[in-house]
Amino acid sequence: MMQNWVTQAISRIEADFKRSSDTHLLKVELPAVKNISLYLKDESTHPTGSLKHRLARSLFLYGLCNGQINENTTIVESSSGSTAISEAYFAQLLGLPFVAVVPKNTSQEKIDEITFYNGQCHLVEAKDIYSEAARLALELKGHYMDQFTFAERATDWRGNNNIAESIFAQMSSEPFPTPSWIVVSAGTGGTSATIGRYIRYKCYPTQLCVADPEHSVFLDYYQTGDQTLVSDHGSMIEGIGRPRVEPSFIPSIVDKMTKVPDSASYATIHFMQKLLNRRCGGSTGTNLYAAFQLISDLNAQNQEGSVVSMICDGGERYLDTYYNNQWLKENGFDTAPYRKQLEKFYKTGLLETI
Ligand SMILES: *Cc1c(COP(=O)(O)O)cnc(C)c1O
Repeated sequence: MMQNWVTQAISRIEADFKRSSDTHLLKVELPAVKNISLYLKDESTHPTGSLKHRLARSLFLYGLCNGQINENTTIVESSSGSTAISEAYFAQLLGLPFVAVVPKNTSQEKIDEITFYNGQCHLVEAKDIYSEAARLALELKGHYMDQFTFAERATDWRGNNNIAESIFAQMSSEPFPTPSWIVVSAGTGGTSATIGRYIRYKCYPTQLCVADPEHSVFLDYYQTGDQTLVSDHGSMIEGIGRPRVEPSFIPSIVDKMTKVPDSASYATIHFMQKLLNRRCGGSTGTNLYAAFQLISDLNAQNQEGSVVSMICDGGERYLDTYYNNQWLKENGFDTAPYRKQLEKFYKTGLLETI
């Protein structure tokens, strides 16, 4: 009986996948940059609006195939928002109750999206999301999805239409089909793990750059290998940058890490309205700013090639924060110098140091 339910659940997720289409790989026009092409994998077009749609699908399939999820299981997750939205979607698809343990400062837009899919939200202090999620799962005899531990292993890194395989397939007819760099940021570290492993497995010469926001310990961990690092301030870029070293972040497959100031990330998403005529989330700004730095360096050395980065989610979730000048000012962010720097980059193809 139980086996029957699991089989049906997997079929439902597969059917949902068949109804979905792949995300676009957008080409970004940078007129002053002659020999380097920039592409953005647009993960905002998934049904639940972010790259976490892929992760949620993988985590549900992983839990089902591990025998950890059955027809009576309450799903519990610790999340800064996007993962909870996507998991709430899949829990609803399977008719399972879902509880998200989220930090108190999570935007109302994200909380509304979780409740739209019948998910329940528990708001706690950012540092308590893990312990609270584990405690709740025990209490409810549920299953703690634990994205920060399982993201790196729930996704098939060799292919199976993962994000890396999709990027390389979509690049295949471009002038420089093998990117010099792929630039991402890390929340769980799952996306960078999948792309980094895939690059090695397929023996591509592509290098992987991970951009880290302020208050995150990932870059320090990358440099020192110290797993006990903690930060007492949460990340100001939703979805990325962690105050502790997450088990899913795999530093050994990363070729380069860069710190991107939060003001630069915000300036970049404002600049993107000019570049793409659309709004994106903060982590997309972090990715793109790091991509611009690499492009500027390649351009200065007269090199040719391609760089691929990612739109992680859309900007509609952040109208009250990153797109609100009052909010930026109140929180002490001065984007003006970076906006000027980016305008100049657009004209010259070179990103001057600030
Ligand atoms: C999770 C997330 C990321 C980072 O992806 P990971 O695979 O978890 O490292 C980037 N941007 C947003 C908006 C996210 O929610």
